[in-house]
Amino acid sequence: MSEATQYSVHDGIAVITMTSPPVNGLGYALRGGLMDCLKKAAGDPAVKAAIIIGSAKAFSGGADIREFNTPQKDIPPSLPEVNVFQDTMTKLLVAAIGGFALGGGLELALACHYRVALGRALFGLPEVKLGILPGSGGTQRLPRIIPVAEALSMMISGNPIPADKAREYGLVDEIVAGDLLDGAIAFARKLLADGKGPRRMRDMKAKFDGDVASFFDDALARAAREYRGQPAPLEIIKCVRDAVTIPFDDGQAESWKRVQMLVNTVESKALRHMFFGERQTTKIPDVPDDTPQRAIKSAAVIGAGTMGGGIAMSLANAGIPVALIEMKQEALDRGLGNITRNYASTVSKGRLTQQKMDEHIALITPALDLAATKDADLVIEAVFERMDVKQEVFRKLDAVAKAGAILATNTSTLDVNRIAAVTKRPQDVIGLHFFSPANVMRLLEVVRAAKTGKDVLATALSLGKKIGKVPVVADISKSMSDGFIGNRMLEKYMHQSLYLVEEGASPAQVDKAATDWGLAMGPFTMGDMAGLDISWDVRKRRYAESPDFEFPRVADRICEAGRLGQKTAKGWYRYEPGKRKPLPDPEADAIIAACRKEIGLTPRAISNEETVERLVYALTNEGAKILEEGIALRASDIDITYLMGYGFPHYRGGPMFWADAQGLDRVLARIEAFHKGYRGEHWKPAPLLVKLAAEGKKFNT
Ligand code: NAD
Repeated sequence: MSEATQYSVHDGIAVITMTSPPVNGLGYALRGGLMDCLKKAAGDPAVKAAIIIGSAKAFSGGADIREFNTPQKDIPPSLPEVNVFQDTMTKLLVAAIGGFALGGGLELALACHYRVALGRALFGLPEVKLGILPGSGGTQRLPRIIPVAEALSMMISGNPIPADKAREYGLVDEIVAGDLLDGAIAFARKLLADGKGPRRMRDMKAKFDGDVASFFDDALARAAREYRGQPAPLEIIKCVRDAVTIPFDDGQAESWKRVQMLVNTVESKALRHMFFGERQTTKIPDVPDDTPQRAIKSAAVIGAGTMGGGIAMSLANAGIPVALIEMKQEALDRGLGNITRNYASTVSKGRLTQQKMDEHIALITPALDLAATKDADLVIEAVFERMDVKQEVFRKLDAVAKAGAILATNTSTLDVNRIAAVTKRPQDVIGLHFFSPANVMRLLEVVRAAKTGKDVLATALSLGKKIGKVPVVADISKSMSDGFIGNRMLEKYMHQSLYLVEEGASPAQVDKAATDWGLAMGPFTMGDMAGLDISWDVRKRRYAESPDFEFPRVADRICEAGRLGQKTAKGWYRYEPGKRKPLPDPEADAIIAACRKEIGLTPRAISNEETVERLVYALTNEGAKILEEGIALRASDIDITYLMGYGFPHYRGGPMFWADAQGLDRVLARIEAFHKGYRGEHWKPAPLLVKLAAEGKKFNT
């Protein structure tokens, strides 16, 4: 027997226990072990029934991700082969599910004759999240066990369902109250006593009554709209239609073909790139996994504004007590009020219990003096974005914070080296750049300054994960990067959106091209939402500081007309009072038209394709510079930054992955063409792009 399984017989009932931590991933050892155990049970005349059971945490999490991209994944038996053997068994086969049964793990359970579960068990087929579909019979067996509509919803969303729903749908035959194995054995004995034999799921009829053509045509049309650009949901629907209309083996053969096709789509490759990229971000070459870390048992946040409040919530949500510090009572009250309202809204949506809300709030201690930082292991500063203000805070912190405390700044643009320099402990200073709303957004840019200690960096990365973020390192230890990774690239993207409008596109056209392509929001809707005055203020400062500084003029003209976005009910669009829906506005169009005249441009028609290329390749080209300068450690870190923090469509894999998928020679050719066009000086190709394109290589190796 393999080490991944255990086998025992209890008075005629074989118990096959999966023992492959951490999640009983279906690697070759477990697949082989299961097959051996099933055969043993099948061949033993004393055995009347067999039970497959996992650990308390996991029945099985599905395919073993450690085997991806290794030859081991092809070592027989495959999961479909195990499932086929399950189908041939003439003895009762029961799955006993304690924790989660996901993907291939659920398919293993679906190929059993019966399923029992604990009340806390979870059932899901999340393959769609990797751009594929359940390839081991899931698409054929699930709709034969639960109603077709529910089966579709589980597979298209990829989200798991709890045990009570699974029981209601018929996926689970019995919920066990006490010990799972005892319950499963009792269940099997009862089936035997009642004379129940094997019940092969493949022999059942799909649970559907209605008009097949209209139901599936409708589902396909809806999915094509809702999941534009994503082939997997459509293929899942076709598989389920097969489950209803053609024999099991034919349906299974079709689903296998479909999964092979999907695996090779750019969309699936992009989603897998994201899956692995997310697991890479904390691997820092000179900071190995065993780097000592500092304990973070308590924290303090300075500034209870937009960001400080959300950061305090993130810490409290992870059970870390946090002092929240403001200068004035009024600002503190406002900040705490926002936090309370924020939690209350989550409670009202049923996504948090009142008790949890109370526990979280109890962890946040308001204070009006920096002295409240004195016991904190971690201090995060989130005051106004001004170097003098931040340096003053850090000077004071240096005097009061305890030795060994990590001193972090949430600055989005300022040089963390200069902030660290005002303290006597620059090794303790780091940037922790959260994104708004900080309690929701998963990206955390961890800014490594020249003197940041390795233990401080390692601790910050662990803390990031602990509070549910995806930390990405922006390394400014050798040279400062304005806007670090994400915002530095965003500036180039925003420039292009404005040049597109100066050249002839309308803001609505640009936004629509962007969202049709899959971006969460177009640049002009985003600008109106954030407020156009924020970047206008920065520009005015920069115009004053350096006479050479220039910016697409049209942005200034809109602001000069008092159009600052949603807050003034007009910006690039207009807004009805109290509403957030952007509406076209002839007044804005007139300002844009006048600006084109002022520049001397005759507007031209711009295709959606050019719009998207200019927006996305502006990100790629700047990303290439960031990579070459060593600000980002790897291309996938840049992709993850955009996927997690900037609404880049997951199935496009990020701006570097997307360029790789198009072919860097092709991307370079487009960038060179833009270099010759309007305001082409902004399109100087990044040397790394030129080099990789010439060598036929990619950013993501
Ligand atoms: P904000 O104006 O909403 O909040 C700043 C708060 O800091 C105010 O409540 C102010 O009273 C308080 N404050 C100022 N000086 C202080 C001091 N010496 N001691 C204690 N409190 C003090 O600003 P924000 O949007 O929360 O931004 C804070 C920081 O986060 C800035 O560095 C900003 O660049 C950065 N940031 C902002 C965003 C965003 O989307 N708003 C995103 C990422 C990072």
